Amino acid sequence: MKPFAYLRPGSVADAVRASTDHPGARFLGGGTNLVDLMKLGVETPGLLIDVSRLPLDRVTPTPQGGLLIGATVRNSDLAAHPAVRGGYPVLSQALLAGASGQLRNSATTGGNLLQRTRCTYFQDTSKPCNKRLPGSGCPAREGVHRDLAVLGHSPACVATHPSDMAVALAALDATVRVHGPEGERTVPVTGLHRLPGDSPERDTVLEPGELITGVELPPPPDGALSLYRKARDRASYAFALASVAAVLTVRDGRIGHASLAYGGLAHRPWRAHAAEDVLRGAPATEDTFARAADAGLAAAEPLRDNGFKVTLARNLTAGALAELTARAASAP
Ligand SMILES: Cc1cc2nc3c(=O)[nH]c(=O)nc-3n(C[C@H](O)[C@H](O)[C@H](O)COP(=O)(O)OP(=O)(O)OC[C@H]3O[C@@H](n4cnc5c(N)ncnc54)[C@H](O)[C@@H]3O)c2cc1C
Ligand code: SF4
Repeated sequence: MKPFAYLRPGSVADAVRASTDHPGARFLGGGTNLVDLMKLGVETPGLLIDVSRLPLDRVTPTPQGGLLIGATVRNSDLAAHPAVRGGYPVLSQALLAGASGQLRNSATTGGNLLQRTRCTYFQDTSKPCNKRLPGSGCPAREGVHRDLAVLGHSPACVATHPSDMAVALAALDATVRVHGPEGERTVPVTGLHRLPGDSPERDTVLEPGELITGVELPPPPDGALSLYRKARDRASYAFALASVAAVLTVRDGRIGHASLAYGGLAHRPWRAHAAEDVLRGAPATEDTFARAADAGLAAAEPLRDNGFKVTLARNLTAGALAELTARAASAP
């Protein structure tokens, strides 16, 4: 591993200043992704700015009736938080579907959102990769791409975003709070990650020096039920081949609110607006769920070896919607 300096700033302002003063520095959350990439030589920062002990480790109610999740809240603590389990079960389930207990004990909210793709070419510095080395090529497109994108990819990159948590946050209309050299701003989670286009080296819309300080959840829609379903190669400790986060209200057999997001299919959590349009106001029937799943995946452009992900996502969607509807019917 390349030698690096280490700093533990006492405030958000100091962390941002240190990052601005040292181009190429990286913020360190739990280190469960960044340190691995440093060992592989994929990341070579000259300075690590440890933000994991900044006072951003609380989950607090907002005046609007939602929740503010500090950027350094650990994944395990967030999954177990009573307000999350009660009001946003989809988020708790998504977190528990990711990684392992030990990893979740270290991983932070900010770091989980900004973890890098698991494309194997990206992690292997002996191979070309446009994301790691712009202009060097994308061997995954013709090579090993079974796990990679079916939606929103480009000739330059077919990587997927690996976070389960981010998929639930996308379905929940969460907003990311960011502090940077120019001050504070907010970004919807659905607008945080970029599609690869011609510049896959940029994962997100964040500018150099910008620190995630928290994530804000709006209050859940009245009577909403939510669910996260994930298909993977092993029962645990594996990234999603496909996943779906669903938030639904059903009254008198008709769907009211519907939000759906996919994981494992694209370079970012994929909000399935076309599926939501089919669902809203429609009868909660198997036919509606099948039509919604088809609409949500209509834009899919599978590669040679990953068409099965579209079928997986379609079945996950129909299953999740059916389960939520059955629960709504039996709710008191
Ligand atoms: C074997 C294994 C299996 C896994 N399986 C899954 C899985 O199934 N699902 C899943 O979702 N995840 C999985 N993970 C990934 C794990 O969830 C992430 O490594 C973790 O969430 C990253 O959080 P961290 O705090 O450790 O981030 P770090 O490694 O500290 O940082 C990751 C990135 O975020 C940046 N960063 C950190 N905090 C901030 C901040 N506040 N503001 C701005 N930038 C910041 C860092 O600079 C770095 O670029 C797995 C990991 C491993 C090793
Ligand atoms: S898919 Fe993206 S990350 Fe993977 S090799 Fe191609 S450019 Fe690199």
